[in-house]
Amino acid sequence: MKTYDAVIAGGGIIGSSIALELASVGLKVAVFDTQKPGREASWASAGMISPSPENPAMASLLPLSLASVCLYPEFMGLVEELSGQSVGYRRVGALDLLFTEEETAGISEILGQHRAAGLKAEALTREQARALEPGLSPEIRAAIHRPDEASLDNRLFTEATVEAARRKGVEIFSGNGAKALCFEGNTCAGLQLETGRVVARWTVIAAGCFSARIEGAAPYAPVIPAKGQMMALRCNAVRLERDLWLGHNYLVPRNDGRIIAGATVEYEGFDRSVTAAGLQQILNAALSVLPRLEKARVEETWAGLRPDSPDHLPILGPTDRDGLLIATGHFRSGILLTPVTARLVREWITSQKVSVDWAPFSPLRFQPMSQTRTA
Ligand SMILES: Cc1cc2nc3c(=O)[nH]c(=O)nc-3n(C[C@H](O)[C@H](O)[C@H](O)COP(=O)(O)OP(=O)(O)OC[C@H]3O[C@@H](n4cnc5c(N)ncnc54)[C@H](O)[C@@H]3O)c2cc1C
Repeated sequence: MKTYDAVIAGGGIIGSSIALELASVGLKVAVFDTQKPGREASWASAGMISPSPENPAMASLLPLSLASVCLYPEFMGLVEELSGQSVGYRRVGALDLLFTEEETAGISEILGQHRAAGLKAEALTREQARALEPGLSPEIRAAIHRPDEASLDNRLFTEATVEAARRKGVEIFSGNGAKALCFEGNTCAGLQLETGRVVARWTVIAAGCFSARIEGAAPYAPVIPAKGQMMALRCNAVRLERDLWLGHNYLVPRNDGRIIAGATVEYEGFDRSVTAAGLQQILNAALSVLPRLEKARVEETWAGLRPDSPDHLPILGPTDRDGLLIATGHFRSGILLTPVTARLVREWITSQKVSVDWAPFSPLRFQPMSQTRTA
């Protein structure tokens, strides 16, 4: 039976980035995945690095989001250097588009919230917004410009992170997923795999929306899939620099000229089908923002499953089982939160201290108090 300092169930962007951080400080690490790592939510994503809370309920995520944004240049630099691959990073800002009088009336409140959170944001008139992005519909009334927002190509990023981890010495096993956690008394001593058992001082559950299917993990990681449908468009008649937001819908330009349009949020179990209604929602939003996209070629459509938790916040940190950590539930923000998640798990494993308070995201928050074990 092989033994490691740390074993990780799941090789998406969260599992592979944790593996890379741990290997970078000399730990012996293995990642186990049911398939080729990085083909689930991390592949399906839009790749935006957008710390602005989408609604007041997500405000508690801000300290984590801001810390992650600060760690991005260092983390991405490490990934690109080790893998020899570019991840398509673009720090060109985002425009939040406002169409109605009611939305426009709320601008100063939104700006105030951004500034209080330390995020740069400015109001633009229709003309100012169209000067930045000439393809914008004349129907918009105003926009909020967030100049610091960025995006990357999540498919390249995930692939490069897996490769960087491998080159740092991480052993990556495809087609050998985790079936169950192995407990010895109150200690988690590794994983029961599809083929045999693996022993480790530390076990990390990072299997995205599939985490709750690993026997023993569900009480700590009660995640469910939230389907997001997406499409990639290409259109010579439209030049887009910045990410555009219209409510929950968005358009994200890539360096290769494609425009990624998304996304639905649907609770349909593990179904990944692309539907007429899903594509209609995305196209309606896209065409209302950039009318010239009506000539665009639809290059690809797909759907992915975000790992969502009962309160829509990530599930991060140690459990009441010695040696067991959870890193999932990143929902719509897993790409944004990649560097900070990897850093905090590494800090905990090496020193049992973390540089950002992750208590609000504890895996123990879903358990009735009476059932919480004392470690
Ligand atoms: C349409 C869409 C758009 C998004 N847009 C953004 C965005 O713009 N910005 C942002 O920050 N976030 C975005 N997200 C969210 C982000 O993509 C996710 O939060 C993130 O990718 C989750 O990464 P993960 O590694 O936890 O999960 P995943 O990428 O799903 O990886 C989980 C891995 O675990 C493996 N696995 C499954 N079962 C087992 C098992 N039993 N044992 C071992 N391994 C197993 C899977 O094969 C997979 O490789 C988006 C998501 C979607 C779907």
